[in-house]
Amino acid sequence: MMIPGYSGGKSVTVESTFATFVADMAMQSSICSHLGAAANSFCPKCEVTKGEVAVGTKRNKEKTVETRKKIALEKTVTGMKKLQTVTGIKGDENPILNLSFDPHENIPTGILHVIHLGVTKQLLSVMSKNDRKSLLQLYIKDLCPKLGNKFVDYLGSRQGKDFKSFIQIAPFAAKFSGQPQSIFKATLKLAKLHKVLCAGGPIEVPAQDYVSAALEVGSVLATPKLHALLHMAKDQDQHGPLIMLNEDKFESSHKHIREGLFKQNNLARGRDTARAQYKRLLLQHLMTGGFVPDIRNNSWRQAGDCVLQGQDALQILNGTTVKKQTFPKLTMADRDERGKLIVNNKTSTYNCIKTSDGDTIRKNEAFVANGVVKVFIRGLKSGEDETIEIREVISRGVSQTLGVDKFILGRNEKLTMPNNIKKIHTLCACDLNGCTVGTFTSTTKLEQQEVEVKNLKVKHRTSIIYINDFKAM
Ligand SMILES: [Zn+2]
Ligand SMILES: [Zn+2]
Repeated sequence: MMIPGYSGGKSVTVESTFATFVADMAMQSSICSHLGAAANSFCPKCEVTKGEVAVGTKRNKEKTVETRKKIALEKTVTGMKKLQTVTGIKGDENPILNLSFDPHENIPTGILHVIHLGVTKQLLSVMSKNDRKSLLQLYIKDLCPKLGNKFVDYLGSRQGKDFKSFIQIAPFAAKFSGQPQSIFKATLKLAKLHKVLCAGGPIEVPAQDYVSAALEVGSVLATPKLHALLHMAKDQDQHGPLIMLNEDKFESSHKHIREGLFKQNNLARGRDTARAQYKRLLLQHLMTGGFVPDIRNNSWRQAGDCVLQGQDALQILNGTTVKKQTFPKLTMADRDERGKLIVNNKTSTYNCIKTSDGDTIRKNEAFVANGVVKVFIRGLKSGEDETIEIREVISRGVSQTLGVDKFILGRNEKLTMPNNIKKIHTLCACDLNGCTVGTFTSTTKLEQQEVEVKNLKVKHRTSIIYINDFKAM
């Protein structure tokens, strides 16, 4: 594509090229002139029919162009539709096929739509349909509090990042809640695949492993997204680590489009949103020092200094908030009658500590200090003295079922707060410790009426902890 531009004081022509598209499955199909995931021949990258999972004959641009010609030559509508159904190719206009770019090969499988919102969501909906649902929900809340106690009930309205958090604790949640063995195995394989993907490692074997494990769970998981996993290894070979092409970054700029959606009279939504978007981009171009052509004088012009130095406006435009300086509140110190400062000697306890990396270590979570692993219980502060209560690790082992390391803990001890600590992601080994699930009642208001609700809660008896090897980042 050739775009007229201005650089270094003279008019230039900018030639832009592109190597890839980042798209979800619907857009990928659209760019490939493919009918979409609901079609009988559902994959835009190869020729497979519904019910099959293994990769079929590769599609390429030449063949697609050929098929489109055949569709155009069909005399009847029924003949045209039949050819479309058999081949999975659409006959309508597609200018991308005129470029020297093969859309079948150059749109990598997206992690957000295929892994997080795809196979993970599908597996989780199978898990939430059996009689272990309430226990599963309980352990999800216990292992990853931010997912809340209604995670399984509202799968449809969850975001990619929620499923990302779920994958990293999924094998533990499945194991502790007593899900069937085939489902537990699938969560284990999925967590392993996800970790390798996030590290940009080779994914051919883990992807194949998950596909086999998912097929053992049942044919309900044999979906187009499961098939798409099998294309991932080749996509990664061709385009580099797929995590770098994650759709998250692109989808987060949807907010700018959304902003435009609501500030209008809704009479011509598409046109008005596009116009608002165009104006925003033009404004951004101008404020970052970009040039615009001045047709009257046949020259190029730039915004004045007072605009270019308005950093606050630019930050708002880019979506970053302007940080306001805050000052700590001043309070009067306690002094005795002679005016001498009274040092408070009261002992206070606290339930978490922060590392220099910004991680929070809570009760029963492990950390490394000076090369030794310890488990945090609570912190004690008395005046200037800071001590923490910890548990020593007396021995290590490997869990046979989960394949992760485990620590066996000793008795409680006290030590002065060490410097330079690093968090290790650990979880209570509920299956080995024999942690029980108990009920407790709490009162809540339902339409002005006080009602008692029974809740489930895990009572931990932590003496063994697992290292969460599936923590990705
Ligand atoms: Zn395929
Ligand atoms: Zn436990």
